[in-house]
Amino acid sequence: MLGAYSLLPLFEAFAGPWANICSTQLANRVRGCDSKGCGGYTNERGSQMHQGVDVICKDGSVVYSPFTGNIDRKVKPYGNRNAIDNGIQLSGSGHCIKMFHIKPFKSRGPIKKGQRLGIMLPMQKVYPGITSHVHIQNCDLTDPTHYL
Ligand SMILES: [Zn+2]
Repeated sequence: MLGAYSLLPLFEAFAGPWANICSTQLANRVRGCDSKGCGGYTNERGSQMHQGVDVICKDGSVVYSPFTGNIDRKVKPYGNRNAIDNGIQLSGSGHCIKMFHIKPFKSRGPIKKGQRLGIMLPMQKVYPGITSHVHIQNCDLTDPTHYL
């Protein structure tokens, strides 16, 4: 499932149908490899594969909704209450995704494409030196990269 994206250079910027996700980036960019790992879809995660894609975003940035839809609920990626253990499930416009490591402004209800969704949490506190990012995964765990 790596497809053509594995051949692209690191930090490739995309221009897919989704809105720009991070206020401190001009376009959605996928985290390449850093000291903590790599951010592409199906990159290795210990004994598992990375089930989503990491969109580069500095700690404290405003995070925007990638498409018009509905915030279904809060989701906790780890369940350990660390500083980045927060996120939401968002569905609509033919998509269903989970976005991790953000503090949402609201945990349910409608939202428009490009509207302010939340704030990027302090990832550097948990993983010093990592390329801070919003983790996005499709609810069905298929590859979301081409929407970025
Ligand atoms: Zn990730």
